[in-house]
Amino acid sequence: MPELPEVETVRRSLEAKVKGKRIETAHVDYPPMLEGALERFHSTISGRVIEDVKRRGKYLLFDLAGVYLLSHLRMEGKYFLTDREEKKQLHERARIFFTDRTALLYEDVRKFGTFALRDAETVFTTRPLSKLGYEPFDASLTPALFHGMLKGRRAIKSVLLDQRVVAGIGNIYADEILFCAGVHPMEEARTLEETQASRIHACFQRILESAIDAGGASVRTYKNTLGTDGRFERELCVHTKAGTPCPHCSTPIEKIKVNGRGTYFCPHCQRRGKKG
Ligand SMILES: [Zn+2]
Repeated sequence: MPELPEVETVRRSLEAKVKGKRIETAHVDYPPMLEGALERFHSTISGRVIEDVKRRGKYLLFDLAGVYLLSHLRMEGKYFLTDREEKKQLHERARIFFTDRTALLYEDVRKFGTFALRDAETVFTTRPLSKLGYEPFDASLTPALFHGMLKGRRAIKSVLLDQRVVAGIGNIYADEILFCAGVHPMEEARTLEETQASRIHACFQRILESAIDAGGASVRTYKNTLGTDGRFERELCVHTKAGTPCPHCSTPIEKIKVNGRGTYFCPHCQRRGKKG
């Protein structure tokens, strides 16, 4: 599933390729992906210019001047820019036609991705964006503030996956962040000390930034838009590495389940109950 670095990589590609284009019309082949009526969707976006492409958490936001098209890629959503006459693709779910004879194809093998329209005035104060927590690079999210948000008995891994706390982190990066910080994924959030919270904060910024620089990771079938593959999976230290030596101490990486999610960690570098 694409996480913040992959979505940000897609956003940058879209910004470079479709910003400034005027939408002539659109075709949605799979209406259940759409929140609201198909006719309203067509009539609302037709004739509008893509002024900008933004991101909030794992959502892409097409700024259509006064209206936003929110796109969530979920498991396998992908965008491709093609000629508008390009033949229909096997997993194509929607096509946005531009006035310059190009088209943006949305492909989604598993059909979990979604489209929704929101008025610009209320886009950030209504669901789903109103439910999102801090962006990881938000300067107001200080290490001390982050430490204050670590309450309750939930495992720290579950807290990192909770989009209401920090938005954009998913299963891959949560494992890498906790390895970087030397914190066991099952550690109860309320027991973490300020130094540990600070390290997690520094690690999520550092790891997400380097993953964005690498164009994200293309773990399993996920590929970035417009034919580019992310390179970050080469830099993964623990995620999907069960049985291979820890890059720091050579102890074999272990795999456990945390809230049903496959979780990878080093039992030596991330000892449970380790403080400081
Ligand atoms: Zn280790």
